[in-house]
Amino acid sequence: MQLKVIETPKNEVQRPAKPPVDLSTLSHRQLLDGDFWRRIPAYAGVSEADFLDHKWQMKQTITKVDKLLGALQGLVSPAVIADAEEGFGAAPMAVRVSPYLLALIDWQNPYEDPIRRQFIPLGSTRLADHPNLRFDSLNEQADAPVQGLTHRYPDKALFLALDTCPVYCRFCTRSYAVGPDVDQGELEKLSLKANNQRWDAIFAYVASRPELEDIVISGGDSYNLRADQVREIGNRLLDIPHVQRMRFATKGPAVMPQKILTDDEWFKALVEVVHRGRKMAKDVVLHTHFNHPNEITAITKRAMDRLFSEGITVRNQAVLQRGVNDAVETMTVLVKRLGHVNVQPYYVYVHDLVKGVEELRTTVDTAAQLEKAVRGTTAGFNTPTFVVDAPGGGGKRVVHSFEHYDRITGISVFSAPRVKPGQYFLYFDPLHLLPEAGQLRWKDPAEHAKMVQEALDRARAHAHR
Ligand SMILES: *Cc1c(COP(=O)(O)O)cnc(C)c1O
Ligand code: SF4
Repeated sequence: MQLKVIETPKNEVQRPAKPPVDLSTLSHRQLLDGDFWRRIPAYAGVSEADFLDHKWQMKQTITKVDKLLGALQGLVSPAVIADAEEGFGAAPMAVRVSPYLLALIDWQNPYEDPIRRQFIPLGSTRLADHPNLRFDSLNEQADAPVQGLTHRYPDKALFLALDTCPVYCRFCTRSYAVGPDVDQGELEKLSLKANNQRWDAIFAYVASRPELEDIVISGGDSYNLRADQVREIGNRLLDIPHVQRMRFATKGPAVMPQKILTDDEWFKALVEVVHRGRKMAKDVVLHTHFNHPNEITAITKRAMDRLFSEGITVRNQAVLQRGVNDAVETMTVLVKRLGHVNVQPYYVYVHDLVKGVEELRTTVDTAAQLEKAVRGTTAGFNTPTFVVDAPGGGGKRVVHSFEHYDRITGISVFSAPRVKPGQYFLYFDPLHLLPEAGQLRWKDPAEHAKMVQEALDRARAHAHR
């Protein structure tokens, strides 16, 4: 791309008017509405009252591969069904898909559809894992003083309250704990059940650490906590004097917004905790996880409006995925649409080094380019920060802040002075997106350690300039 040099106009009096807006750039405000689920043969007879009811959504959520393949009969060709069967056979995550999500997928184009890509694996698109991937790439267990609480940063901690979710995402970074065991998991998953005794030890730890001001309640997913559990966790954390901020993390609004609208018990519990916090001058918010503009419909808008009307702040953390949201146009519409429904785009994560989803990863360079393209689109506070969650436990680092980045080998090196001083953290771009010279070097196992060493040496040289 050629950059134009803009010269400062001299003594300009008449300024050209801003040209009229191209209305197609306002598509973020056009939300899918109506009975779109009827496009799916299995849901053709489902009434609006049922589809909008979270109890119906939960009961109809598909948790068996053969059920899912059955629901696709008549929608897609037998070849696609066979492809999905093969995909599930090799996948490290269990299946769990809500009818809402299934109905949002464009089954005319299953190969390209961004929601299909995130939840339904296909055998034919599978790529071999990068040799440097491992289980729990974020080292959450190593940084856990109590099982289920990761205390990595000085003043905040991550509380894994439970190990289930309303859906299971293929790209889940916590596949070491989340969801039921599957045949392909080389380890038995760590058990993090919703359990008051396990939580007691966590609350005691938080109470014993005066520096902890900020607790992320995640899992698993806060949507799967019962109303009394939302209150229990919320109130016990609010009662710890030094806890000043809390975030309930949930994918829920992106995969089943109905719950916000019809699960009054759960909604009331959340509102109660938020309002009690406000009276105590403590900030309780919701963090959610939309990845593609198609996940935001008119139903989502009504759900987000209900949260907004209660003064509940909602922020979004998206995961950058190839073929899902790695195009400038898609990411821009996502950011604008989130703003439209009063959700603040907070982070876009470069995909973690998770096994079995290599075709969904992309490069640090793609993330950096996207960040440049998106910034300036809308309010700065509605512009996400693009980060790499540094593998090995460095925490989130801005994509542009690498100490060294070799686009040939795809190795980027990050440091985290406030989190793990003196350490370097490596991210590896997927091999198939590297230039030929890089792919060739990775083909030779003798080169692997050499490439890593080179990258570390250059990062050190950069630090000591
Ligand atoms: C992401 C994360 C947090 C919260 O970090 P923010 O940058 O404040 O969103 C806290 N602890 C752990 C272990 C995390 O991964
Ligand atoms: S909702 Fe979150 S924790 Fe659950 S499977 Fe998806 S990414 Fe993992």
